[in-house]
This record gives sequence, C-alpha cells and structure tokens, in this order.
Amino acid sequence: MNKHLQQLIELSMIDKEIDAFEPQIEEANLQYEALLATKNGVNDEITSLKQEIKDEQLKKQKNELHLAELSAKLEENSKKSAEIKTEREMKSLQLEEEIAKEQVSFANEEIARLEKLIDHKQAKINELETKASEIEGSISSVKADVDVKLAQIDVERKEVFTKKQALVGEMNQKGLSFYQKIRRWAKNTTAVAVRNQACMGCYMAISDKVYSDVIKGEEITMCPHCGRILFLEPSSDAVGA
Ligand SMILES: [Zn+2]
Repeated sequence: MNKHLQQLIELSMIDKEIDAFEPQIEEANLQYEALLATKNGVNDEITSLKQEIKDEQLKKQKNELHLAELSAKLEENSKKSAEIKTEREMKSLQLEEEIAKEQVSFANEEIARLEKLIDHKQAKINELETKASEIEGSISSVKADVDVKLAQIDVERKEVFTKKQALVGEMNQKGLSFYQKIRRWAKNTTAVAVRNQACMGCYMAISDKVYSDVIKGEEITMCPHCGRILFLEPSSDAVGA
C-alpha cells in the first residue's frame, strides 16, 4: 500500500481514538455529578422545609396571641356579668361568650395542627440531614475513584498523543493539510473502508475503476461522491464484494 495512504489511514484511526476519550471522561464524571446534584436537591429541600416551619411558627404565634386576647375578653365578660341588669344584656353577653369560646377552641385546634405539622417537618429535616451526610461520604469516595479513572485515561491519552506526534512528524505537510481539510467536516470518518464496493462514509456505490484503484492501493483514492479517503480493510474480501 502507498505509504502516504497508510499514514492517512493510521492518522484517522488515532484521531478517532483521541475523540473516544471525551465520552470516557464524561462517563467517569457522571456518577460524581449525579451525587452532587442529589446533594444539592436534598439541601434545597431542607432549606424550603425550614422556611415552611418558620411560616408555621409565625402562624402559631398569631394564634397564641389571639388566644391571649380571647381569654382577656372572657375574663372581662365574667366581670361584666356581675353588673348585668336586663335579660337582653345577659343574652347578648352569653352570645359573645359562646363565640369567644368557639374561637378559643378553634385557635387551640389550629395550634395543635401547626405543632404536628412542624414536628413532622422537623423529622423530615432530620432524615434529610442524615441523607445529606451519607451522600457527602459517598461523594468523597466516588471522587477518589473518579480521580483514579481520570488519571488512567490521561496516561492512555498521552500515549495516543505521543503516537500521533510521531506519525505527524513523519508525514509531509501537503498530506497533513489534505487530511485536515477533509477531517474538518468528516470528523471520524475522514478515512473510510470500502465494503461491497460502497463507500462506508456516504454509503454510495463506487465505480469499478475507483474500486480497482482502492484495491491496488497505489495511490490515495477519494470517494467520488463525498470526497472521503477510501481504503480496503485488510480483512475484507475484495473479490467477493
Ligand atoms: Zn463516499
């Protein structure tokens, strides 16, 4: 095979390898990032529960204040009842007292309801805080794992880069810029195999003449349809295509 063609094919393989590191890095970070997101979610939940408790405590205070007012009123009424002269006055006072007592029991119910709600939310906060500290623990161990994986990927990546550097050093400038031009749009399919007499970049059939050029491999052959560099895979069966 033409030496320049071989270099181009090899370079396209190396570039493909380099591109393959990116998803590996993302994958390594995935679990760590998911844990961080969970932790943030838990903390947000705690913050909003705390705010809700504050609001409910405020409501409870209002009810307690109202209770104090009501009991003052009831006390006043009982004083008044001593000075009552008419039946009508008594009835009106009784009615007032009934309403005040109803309000007292309503305020007491409301306070009990709010206390229950606050207790429930506080228990939920405690639960979430335990969860948050558990997540914190796994975050540090996952981070350590991720760092090991990333370091490993980095070593592999450096090896591939070294390989690329050596190859690029051997190649001529013309061949390189030719390759770069195609790679700009074709990315990892800059050099593609021919299978069943078709370009594996655009999947169009190539003529017998182009096909025989590819089989010979004496020159760099490009797909007449898409312009990618064509090559025959060593393992593929040229005759049976
Ligand atoms: Zn093509």
